[in-house]
Amino acid sequence: MKTSVVGFPRIGALRELKFASEKYFRKEISLQELEACGADLRARHINEQSAAGIDFIPCNDFSFYDGVLDTAVLLNAVPARYRDLNLPPLDIYFAMARGYQGEAGDVKALAMKKWFNTNYHYIVPEIEDDTEIKLAATKPFEEFAEAKSLLEKNGGKGCAKPVLTGPFTFLKLARFTGGKNISDFADDVTSVFIQVVSRLEKDGALWIQFDEPALVMDLTAGDKELFCSIYRKILGAKGGSKILLQTYFGDVRDCYGEIRSLGFDGIGLDFVEGKKSLELVSGGENFPPETVLFAGLVNGKNIWRNDYSKTIDIIEKLCKKAENIVIGTSCSLLHVPYTLENEKKMEDGYRKYFAFASEKLKELSELRSICQSDNPRLQEFYTANKSLFDSPRPGLDEAVRNRCASIKKEDFTRLPEFAVREKIQKQRLNLPLLPTTTIGSFPQTPDVKANRAAFRKGEISENQYVSFNRKKIADCIAFQEKTGLDVLVHGEYERNDMVEYFGECLDGYIFTERAWVQSYGTRCVKPPVVWGDVSRAKPMTVVWSQYAKSLTAKPVKGMLTGPVTILNWSFPREDIALKDCVMQIALAIRDEVLDLEAAGISVIQIDEAALREKLPLRKSDWQEDYLSWAIPAFRLVHSGVKPETQIHTHMCYSEFTDIIPAIDDMDADVITFEASRSDLQILDALKANNFKTEVGPGVYDIHSPRVPSVEEIAAALRKMLEKIPEGKLWVNPDCGLKTRGTPETEASLKNLVAAARLVRGELK
Ligand code: GLN
Ligand code: ZN
Repeated sequence: MKTSVVGFPRIGALRELKFASEKYFRKEISLQELEACGADLRARHINEQSAAGIDFIPCNDFSFYDGVLDTAVLLNAVPARYRDLNLPPLDIYFAMARGYQGEAGDVKALAMKKWFNTNYHYIVPEIEDDTEIKLAATKPFEEFAEAKSLLEKNGGKGCAKPVLTGPFTFLKLARFTGGKNISDFADDVTSVFIQVVSRLEKDGALWIQFDEPALVMDLTAGDKELFCSIYRKILGAKGGSKILLQTYFGDVRDCYGEIRSLGFDGIGLDFVEGKKSLELVSGGENFPPETVLFAGLVNGKNIWRNDYSKTIDIIEKLCKKAENIVIGTSCSLLHVPYTLENEKKMEDGYRKYFAFASEKLKELSELRSICQSDNPRLQEFYTANKSLFDSPRPGLDEAVRNRCASIKKEDFTRLPEFAVREKIQKQRLNLPLLPTTTIGSFPQTPDVKANRAAFRKGEISENQYVSFNRKKIADCIAFQEKTGLDVLVHGEYERNDMVEYFGECLDGYIFTERAWVQSYGTRCVKPPVVWGDVSRAKPMTVVWSQYAKSLTAKPVKGMLTGPVTILNWSFPREDIALKDCVMQIALAIRDEVLDLEAAGISVIQIDEAALREKLPLRKSDWQEDYLSWAIPAFRLVHSGVKPETQIHTHMCYSEFTDIIPAIDDMDADVITFEASRSDLQILDALKANNFKTEVGPGVYDIHSPRVPSVEEIAAALRKMLEKIPEGKLWVNPDCGLKTRGTPETEASLKNLVAAARLVRGELK
């Protein structure tokens, strides 16, 4: 039995590539220096996998920014506006990724989207009607040659396996900007891949991996036809290299039959996230002896140790159907941090439960040893692993469990119903029509960050830290009053991040020092880890909100992050279901909501910015696997408040139009969301669904320092009023203001208030 890795992280264990790229962008290092950094990282990663005994080692999984963008460049899908800059190739590449403003011209970046159900973002390729698809780069060949020679130097330990973004997935993700579509380009794209395969064959590639995660989505008959016709051609044209079709992030239930009949040399399936993968394989006919099953068994998306007893069970079932099995990662290890070695402060009691990318390599080789032994269940790696999973896990809290067990059905319903509450709240709050507000954070200026950093390092006392923030809050409230906003906020100066802040306040969370994961390009995130049962030891935000409230007669919004977003932006546990974990977080936030209410806060916002993020890739799984607990978790948070307390929620930067009924079912009183970039399309969907919740579609984009004019905001409001009753419309920016500077924020909010007043005056 052999081992395979689908892909390896590439940013560097200490984010070397990020820092080198940023230096290159600032023109502090040369192209050669940046390239040397890339080559060094690639060599390190290949050597590490070889030393760990991995048999199939990925290459061409490296990228200076993003693998889909690399594929676009490989296919010559470079829009004219970038080509016309006439810059060196890597600079054109970076212009597509990040935009360019300089002597050569001024172009915006290509769009960026979430890579399936991960927090990694890929660059969306654009194909214009006159794009001439042809083989236009040599990256895969160069990186294969480099990997091959590195491995030869290592005495041939491991086979270099070039990884390509598959043509089907590429075509499905691309944007066609003109009148042409996928079918107009499919043949050309396919023939480029045929050339790539033939060149790699000549160069000596034994195996070539085509990544086709798009196959785990809902597929139409047309999709299947496209997929089959592409690969019939590729498989028909190939010579000696073996072709591995690699899927991940789910199962291939819509096309398993097609995949098996096409004659791939290897088929890679995900047995971690693919809930039907095992059923598909064990229920189907035997694998032909010449087809290798690449079984994705070690989770490429989470950071916990693999449970060998479960994995060996699966392998035994698979062995009944396939003679040739390779054990591998469930997807690329891009989605996990590098190594526990960099976690210097983590105690052993915790450490033994984790496996980052490096440790997962070790797990693969241990699993191979277990499989090769005469009695796998007595093998030493197996028994050691079993004793870890059998021993009682620390971090569990009986009280939390009991509390969750006693949640009743009624706890998910807030009474009285929305229409009744709406009247009561209107009376209590006495706001004008089109009330104005913001999403929570105010600019996190350098002084705010410096104050927090100084407190963390112990350079200032808690008293000093708090007084500074109180001064900021006072200024913030004074500004909002002077400007004439209706529902005020305290500004969130105490928060580094909307999830990390709550993670730090909650019991059951732990934090890493260097467990960075690439989010896009040079940006990395360090998600907190849900370690055990989650609970709230004491109020987390009440003092700040209470202080802000004491400074004004206007309502001040209490500001919280919702349970689904907290969970989605953390590394979740695997020993309990997500649904159980989210309820624990929901109860903790519920306590905070009730404490805010008791402190006299009349409006409470519970942000669910990431609600959409872990929505299953297949529509048929949405309800059962996700919405059936995500929406109740939110309802549990606020169901205990009095009718006169107004609950807001906020969402941003994702597609909502297809989950409008679920959002309404969150039963908030008001929802604010990002809308200015999506051309207000969402309004039609709200209207079509008889959306009951009051709404604040953002009136300006907070991502740029640009100040929107009064007339422009007023025009947006008038357009909104065509679709939304005047009694239900709120006026607010798209999202929080923390990344903005103070001058543009103040100017924009003044205009926002002026526009609301202007349009109010036009209403009869
Ligand atoms: N309340 C948060 C803020 O204003 C919301 C952030 C977000 O939606 N991403 O910063
Ligand atoms: Zn937002």
